[in-house]
Amino acid sequence: MSAQIIDGKVLAAQVKAEVAADVETLKAKGVQPCLAVILVGENPASQTYVKGKEKDCIECGMESRVIRMPADSTQQQVLDQLRVLAADDAVHGILVQLPLPEQIDEQAVIAAIPPEKDVDGFTPVNVGRMMIGEECFLPCTPAGCMRMLDSTGVSVAGKHAVVVGRSNIVGKPAAMLLLSRNATVTICHSKTADLPEVCRSADILVAAVGRAGFITGDMVKEGAVVIDVGINRSPEGKLCGDVDFAAAAEKAGHITPVPGGVGLMTRAMLMVNTVEACRRQTGL
Ligand code: NDP
Repeated sequence: MSAQIIDGKVLAAQVKAEVAADVETLKAKGVQPCLAVILVGENPASQTYVKGKEKDCIECGMESRVIRMPADSTQQQVLDQLRVLAADDAVHGILVQLPLPEQIDEQAVIAAIPPEKDVDGFTPVNVGRMMIGEECFLPCTPAGCMRMLDSTGVSVAGKHAVVVGRSNIVGKPAAMLLLSRNATVTICHSKTADLPEVCRSADILVAAVGRAGFITGDMVKEGAVVIDVGINRSPEGKLCGDVDFAAAAEKAGHITPVPGGVGLMTRAMLMVNTVEACRRQTGL
């Protein structure tokens, strides 16, 4: 293996230590940053994610509130809960854990989160601000990818960045952040022609597909930075990314592992956004 591993554990710990120091400063001024999470239903993966967020808040010295709602909650009930949290000055960040049960329109719920408390960066206002380069909350996964990329010391400007995946929460914003850093960006998706060839031309390759082993070693350019966003289960039940790690690591200059990669940074960036939301709302 020739690639250097971009260690999500180490980086996330650094980021969380910075957040904890910021929280201490705010507490000394009489404010405790608080993240409220709405969890509707009992999706096991969502429950695990929410537990992780609670743990991170505690680790950073923040308050964590989890509002658990039954799976048969109506859209109106979720919107009512959001309104309560929006009006509560002690709550600085609000997150609605996705996916929501099918009777609820996700976009309608997301749009009801006040942009100044939208620490996931999913509301149309924050997405629009990101597009035009205004101050906003960046979505946590793409922001985490950028932190990991920056940790390599590889400069982004002028590089060819290929993002595989075009979801609203990962692919599209990741491409936009790379563009804002002056990469030349190609976005690939299920209709892309000759995807392996496009990937092979990437100096920076971001995989956000949701398929184990999708990026094979022959799709990686010698010396490329490979960021693996995927969270999948292998046929043996092991957690793995979208990249065939062993094969890609033979070619890449830097690569993120799964587990221990982007997932941990996503969680850390949520803490960054929450403390920042608190700072902006309190003016401290
Ligand atoms: P989506 O399912 O919303 O998007 C997947 C994207 O991959 C789509 O744009 C789709 O193309 C594309 N795609 C699917 N199959 C192919 C194919 N055969 N060839 C080319 N492109 C393809 O997933 P998400 O963006 O939400 O998530 C992607 C992965 O990242 C998942 O494994 C998810 O679990 C993980 N994830 C990890 C996070 C973390 O913190 N590490 C956070 C969020 C997600 P098309 O648009 O044409 O359908």
